[in-house]
Amino acid sequence: MARITIEKEGRIALPEDYKQRYGLEGGEELVFEPVEDGLALRFARPHARRAYVEVTARCNLNCAMCVRQVWRDAPGEMSWETFKIVIEGLRAFPDLRRITFGGFGEPLTHPRFPEMLSLAAGLEVGMTLTTNGLVLDEAMAERLLDVHLDTVVISLDTVHIQAYEQARLEKGVEQVLENVRALRELARQRGWMIPRIGLEFVAMHSNLEWVPRLPGLARDLGASFVLITNLLPHTLEMAEEVLYDRDEPLPTPIGWPVPSADWLLWGIARPPRMKWGAWRRCRFIEERALVIGWDGGVSPCYALMHSYPYYIYGRRKEVSRYMLGNVREQPLADIWTSDEYVSFRGKVREMRFPSCVDCGMACTFAEDNEDCWGNGPSCADCLWAQDIVRCP
Ligand code: SF4
Ligand code: SF4
Ligand code: SF4
Repeated sequence: MARITIEKEGRIALPEDYKQRYGLEGGEELVFEPVEDGLALRFARPHARRAYVEVTARCNLNCAMCVRQVWRDAPGEMSWETFKIVIEGLRAFPDLRRITFGGFGEPLTHPRFPEMLSLAAGLEVGMTLTTNGLVLDEAMAERLLDVHLDTVVISLDTVHIQAYEQARLEKGVEQVLENVRALRELARQRGWMIPRIGLEFVAMHSNLEWVPRLPGLARDLGASFVLITNLLPHTLEMAEEVLYDRDEPLPTPIGWPVPSADWLLWGIARPPRMKWGAWRRCRFIEERALVIGWDGGVSPCYALMHSYPYYIYGRRKEVSRYMLGNVREQPLADIWTSDEYVSFRGKVREMRFPSCVDCGMACTFAEDNEDCWGNGPSCADCLWAQDIVRCP
């Protein structure tokens, strides 16, 4: 037994000898919270492992399925000052393993993206870039190699191809394929295995016949994985395209060989889950990820980083952006260890949310992404937690 001191409401400080006895740091803080069957104690540690950074919410394409068509947010791009604060803030996380340049915009269109890469490289963690690949020219490819960026995920599906056509781009998808091949060739000339290339494909009714062709495309581009996701529809028209919950399984593509320096890798396609079920697990929370928007706002996941409508099983929902703080106003580690963020992560890890899809009431709480258990925002309708919708 030991006595603990209540320092202030909702927080306790641990005695020094707890480190030795329980592997806890002396003076470490825990957030306590009354739950249904007692008191939950949760560490308030700066232990994030992954950061997603949206350097811009602007894009050089205008895809029909994109949340940017319908969101209620003002698009903008991250200032250099904000980016420096983000990188400084991330230094406070000793477990940080990866930074992903993504979000809902095209990172390569940010005019200072090359400098951002150099600054981020100083963190000495893995770096992923998600891109539509259109402006990944030779200079940018050299830059990615110079900073040892290790993973590039190219969004490539029929919606993107239509967007190239609508934008009347001379080469469109051909340009993207050329860019990816050129990046691989430049890496080969340096004798490097990185970056590994991945493709992201949004599967829909109208492009289902493409799925079996993905291994061939991936092989041609030297891609070692294809991430297949379901569509999150933002309009009634796009809702018609949704594939999940159909009775037939998604045609699962077989793997493909990816020649490397001295050996052969085996590429894989990762299909999404296709049926709503009891199993729910949030990858963002489990991977201890945080998401930083272009304006410095910190959110727990992609699903809650913008304000937008979407359709789920015929119901329309309005999601409102959920921010736990802004790096311009508060150190990132303080945001991560705040009572609200610690408590939210605990709640998601335990999935203390109802399931609106199973309930089927379609009540007004669900319309506003809240729920009848008093949660707001709620994860009760989350397709990410079902692995039906996925991100790199
Ligand atoms: S490339 Fe990506 S961010 Fe840009 S419009 Fe298309 S889906 Fe949206
Ligand atoms: S919030 Fe509750 S009552 Fe409303 S749809 Fe979801 S589970 Fe059903
Ligand atoms: S369950 Fe969904 S809405 Fe909730 S934190 Fe995870 S991704 Fe976000």
